[in-house]
Amino acid sequence: MKYQVKVSELARKLGVHRNTIRNWINSNKLDAAPAPGKGILLSEDEFTRLCDEFGLDPGMVKFRRMSPEALAGKANGLNVPLRELGERTNRLRPSPQWADVCMTCGSCASACPISGVDGLDPRKAVRLVVLGLEEQLIESQWPWKCTLCGKCEETCPMNVELVSLLRRVRGLREREKVPHPMHKGVMMDLERGNNLGIPQEDFLLLLEDLGEEMAEECCPGFEAPVDKMGANLLVSVNSKEPFAEPEDMKHWWKIFHAAGEDWTIPSVNWEGVNWALFTGDDQAMKTLVGRVVENMHRLECKTLLLPE
Ligand code: SF4
Ligand code: SF4
Repeated sequence: MKYQVKVSELARKLGVHRNTIRNWINSNKLDAAPAPGKGILLSEDEFTRLCDEFGLDPGMVKFRRMSPEALAGKANGLNVPLRELGERTNRLRPSPQWADVCMTCGSCASACPISGVDGLDPRKAVRLVVLGLEEQLIESQWPWKCTLCGKCEETCPMNVELVSLLRRVRGLREREKVPHPMHKGVMMDLERGNNLGIPQEDFLLLLEDLGEEMAEECCPGFEAPVDKMGANLLVSVNSKEPFAEPEDMKHWWKIFHAAGEDWTIPSVNWEGVNWALFTGDDQAMKTLVGRVVENMHRLECKTLLLPE
């Protein structure tokens, strides 16, 4: 027996974001198969394990049960076997959630703030994918004008994962054709530990200076805590602050100070904004996230604060 579960509904029951559920599936933490429309399919064992982990009574969590016959013939009410969706050889169609189930209603286009820019909108983007015209989309500037706000996805009645699709489109572009400031930021972060290439010595001096200012202004004896072992909160930094708006860092620090928070800033790899998320570069994103995790382990912190 399988359970057909809506991602949004499961997320609500577990108290997590729906993207968390998708991340679990993509990283094999959750053994679930995508189903057309709004659902995923979970085995009974997996469903029970998840309920146990989150302290839910499986009997109290009502989801639709799917018999093997229903799965083979009438999955999700479409009245057609899943296999009839056809082999997905197109690079942007590995999952039905990415295009195949679109019914061209146009809700996404109505919600999108950049509909019509360059003659494209999310519905047209999906049609290009379905029709095998993906290269047109990959070469277009439109996916780079998308804010990844997710309004299109929120409004889609078929739960087409438009944001993942558009991010994947960006990832398929040759790196030298990625908008230069974004790609340069990712390369800089990989090379120097922050998007703007601020040297470690300058960063540490700035923290010291700002700490002294704060001690004079309002908090006698204050020093910015760097690499403090076992602090509760690890504070990462948006590099534009030390670069252009260092005063803004003190606003955070004053709140921590007033609240008696136990916090620290790492001396290396302190960048908190991962631009690889926006360039679709999964490998770089993984490396940069790994550095943040490494800082958490190295300093034995319990909670991570990301600035954006
Ligand atoms: S809202 Fe969803 S189903 Fe409607 S056109 Fe957009 S992607 Fe297709
Ligand atoms: S995520 Fe992109 S395509 Fe979707 S609504 Fe926002 S700007 Fe438009």
